[in-house]
Amino acid sequence: MTLLTTKVTAMKNEVTFLDLRLHFQTGRAYIISGQGRNRVYGYRSGVWCNLGDVDSADWVRMVKNVISREGEQQLHQQLLQYLKDHNYAKETKSELEFNALQLHAARIFDDEAWVEFLRFNRKYRPDVAASARLVRIRPMCCKMPGEITQTMLEQHKSTNTAPCPHCGRWAEYELMTTTEMEERTNECE
Ligand SMILES: [Zn+2]
Repeated sequence: MTLLTTKVTAMKNEVTFLDLRLHFQTGRAYIISGQGRNRVYGYRSGVWCNLGDVDSADWVRMVKNVISREGEQQLHQQLLQYLKDHNYAKETKSELEFNALQLHAARIFDDEAWVEFLRFNRKYRPDVAASARLVRIRPMCCKMPGEITQTMLEQHKSTNTAPCPHCGRWAEYELMTTTEMEERTNECE
């Protein structure tokens, strides 16, 4: 996996993905004009990110700027496409676009604990998927051997559950050794 080490020229006060990492959405009504009953309210929608409380539209613009500055437009399109292809919550186009920006700022595609890490990266960034430490498990639901990241396994070790590599359900599993895998493969032949 190649690490990005081209930050040397970056200006010190440039906004980064980390600055724009989103924690939650904020919103508040404010008075536009008038007093008492004649007050006219406006509504400001915002996001709480590492920079603080920022107007949503500004945040969207800033994330897009960082994406193009870092030359990650293609990666962003892939992330958006992936969300569209797996839109189980039936989100609208603008919700999907907002989510893609949020996930991009969080560098979700580099997070081996992300449930979609292997599926996404095997599709779009095979070198990243290949560099992850993987473990083989046999989930109780599908009962077929499959792979998950070591990070995922460790994060949920206490419950002995993991997302099934085949159907995506959280399931208990049996850890497999490489030898077991080979033996099973041979059995099938
Ligand atoms: Zn399953």
